[in-house]
Amino acid sequence: MNIFHLLDQTARRFPDLGAVYTGSMEVATFAALRSRALRIAAFLRDRFAPGERIVIVTENCPEYVELFFGIWAAEMAVTPVNAKLHPKEMVQILGDSGAAAAFVSPKIIDRLRSEAAASQAADCLLQVIGGDGYETLLGEEWDGEVGSDPNALAWLFYTSGTTGRSKGAMLSHRNIMAMTIAHLADMEVVDENASLVHAAPMSHGSGLYLPAYVARGARQVVPASGGFDPAEFTDLCSAHPGVGAFFAPTMVQRLRLEAQRSGRTPQNLRTIVYGGGPMYLEEIRKSLDVFGQVFMQIYGQGESPMTITGLRRTDHLTGDDATLASVGYARSGLEVRVVDQDMKPVPPGEIGEVICRGDVVMSGYWNNPDATAAALRDGWLYTGDMGSFDERGYLTLRDRSKDVIISGGTNIYPREVEEALLRHPAVSEVCVVGQEHPEWGEIVVAVIVPADGQTAEERELDAHCVEHIARFKRPKRYLFVESLPKSNYGKVLKRELRLQLPPLDD
Ligand code: ATP
Repeated sequence: MNIFHLLDQTARRFPDLGAVYTGSMEVATFAALRSRALRIAAFLRDRFAPGERIVIVTENCPEYVELFFGIWAAEMAVTPVNAKLHPKEMVQILGDSGAAAAFVSPKIIDRLRSEAAASQAADCLLQVIGGDGYETLLGEEWDGEVGSDPNALAWLFYTSGTTGRSKGAMLSHRNIMAMTIAHLADMEVVDENASLVHAAPMSHGSGLYLPAYVARGARQVVPASGGFDPAEFTDLCSAHPGVGAFFAPTMVQRLRLEAQRSGRTPQNLRTIVYGGGPMYLEEIRKSLDVFGQVFMQIYGQGESPMTITGLRRTDHLTGDDATLASVGYARSGLEVRVVDQDMKPVPPGEIGEVICRGDVVMSGYWNNPDATAAALRDGWLYTGDMGSFDERGYLTLRDRSKDVIISGGTNIYPREVEEALLRHPAVSEVCVVGQEHPEWGEIVVAVIVPADGQTAEERELDAHCVEHIARFKRPKRYLFVESLPKSNYGKVLKRELRLQLPPLDD
């Protein structure tokens, strides 16, 4: 079991099919992709031992695909790093992972080199992606055996760092294979007439879907911009068949706004899998109106990559509030429970922590036994997310345990308050957090980005909340801002927002 074998098999079956595209241009067939991957493997095996971590730091680019498979063929572990991180954060990952080499985009290499020079912790071979230097690395193909230890480290996945410092989740070939099989079983139709458009970073969600698409002989399409541009994405949907893509929820909104502005909806769009953060009910309803039934939702985390529960395409068809506001039910090959503090499953309707187990779950955090012991207990992954099952087994996520507000001894789940406020037309974005309070312990604070040209009156918002949620959950304080602090993954950084709250007596 080595993920490289998925490419190997596809290259034998469909050698001349286009495998990798930049924009609408074919850059490699499956035979060429396999050959280039094996040449990268030879370069790596000449220098390093199996098991080494090889970092990739680049915006999305076609070389990403050959690097992934080349590193796997060399029996080393891919360690992708988001290109939008600060060079200091990149160097921290280089140091933490103890990487032997890093393949780096030409746009980033100089900054990374000077930052790495200042840090002795990050001493590795830096190699520029693309250009003549990169091409000369590619000598003969690796002709040794490609080992297949299912438990070997395949992907060192650094989490987004939304709740604290980013941690390296260790994912084996078995984990990635379990994720791939679950994806093909649960989520969508992938065949040789399909294309995966990498609109989201290949270092995270989009890259994780790569093995499933390669296994089926589908195309990898990298936008020429290297990232997400709604108009470019719409064009790519006309240039390629059966388009699937992974989107963060904010990208769904951006694509919808672009479609409404331009009057163009993407042709050949088969599937948008969204997830990685909350999708609000209002948004998915509006997007279903514009794009039709192309949506699937996944709930997962780096520790159980992209795979805990899922809301299928047909679930989106039912359209009732409870289903659309949920994150669906357990993915194939996974057991999911909601438990109380004594680790006992709670009945449907009651809130507890979401835990899961299955072949997809990581074996632990790299170099971090304390965090591993806290996350993995008795074979279960403790996600840190709070949620409840309904009678049908659909999971509704409330919040991360760290974000729950305890006011007057009662738990208040910010997401419910955010959902209510988002229904108000004057609210474009909102984040609800707790603020320490001498009498209540914490009070509910709503930080609001007003919709264009609208002014949201505090009294009016309060009256709106009275209509939609219990009185004790209403925000006691409203703050209006131009934008919310977000991570490079587009997730709102609640911990930062809490620190930025003006004191209560202001
Ligand atoms: P860190 O663990 O470093 O704080 P992170 O948890 O954001 O960062 P990821 O693994 O990228 O790192 O994100 C996983 C988290 O994102 C989940 O635990 C959950 O809180 C949230 N999430 C993922 N999918 C969904 C979804 N469909 N709906 C709501 N929240 C989601």
